[in-house]
Amino acid sequence: MKEIVIYGNEVLHIPTKEVKEFNGELKNLIDEMYETMYKSNGVGLAANQIGVPLKVAVIDVAPAGHEGKVTLINPKIKSHSKKFILDDEGCLSVPGLYLPVLRYQSISVEYQDLEGKKHIINAEGYFAKAIQHEIDHLEGILFVERFFEHFDVEKILEDNKDNEEAVKIIETAKEIYDKIRKIKNK
Ligand SMILES: [Zn+2]
Repeated sequence: MKEIVIYGNEVLHIPTKEVKEFNGELKNLIDEMYETMYKSNGVGLAANQIGVPLKVAVIDVAPAGHEGKVTLINPKIKSHSKKFILDDEGCLSVPGLYLPVLRYQSISVEYQDLEGKKHIINAEGYFAKAIQHEIDHLEGILFVERFFEHFDVEKILEDNKDNEEAVKIIETAKEIYDKIRKIKNK
């Protein structure tokens, strides 16, 4: 099992590189990623979360009680629904924090397999959400950034200032977001 990289490490905050060589090394990387994801009780893992800046992600949403498993190499969203879903997300690279994030309800994704062959996968609901979270990772984007992009966080804070628990969560998210902004503005 590999160690999971935590936010603040640059490898998580810059776009990863396209995979060009489909060899045994890639196969080993994917095996290690699955092992690390399952042992960490995650439902998805991007290669940069174990420090490898390549466009590879593994997803298996079975541990969360849903259906969908795929290994994505060089994935691209080709089309998506107009409808969004809103649900809490967490991330192995941001331990302990859960925030609501908007995602497309369904997506169509082009990706390559271990041999470099192209495929299309159609996904919806929880599975689609997990895929979008991982593709974001490969672009150097964390769900915390999506939360700030989708919501007026200062207003939420003001409207909920009596809710101690909500304030604590948002303050934590703000600290993480500020740290990411600083790295990206360097
Ligand atoms: Zn994540």
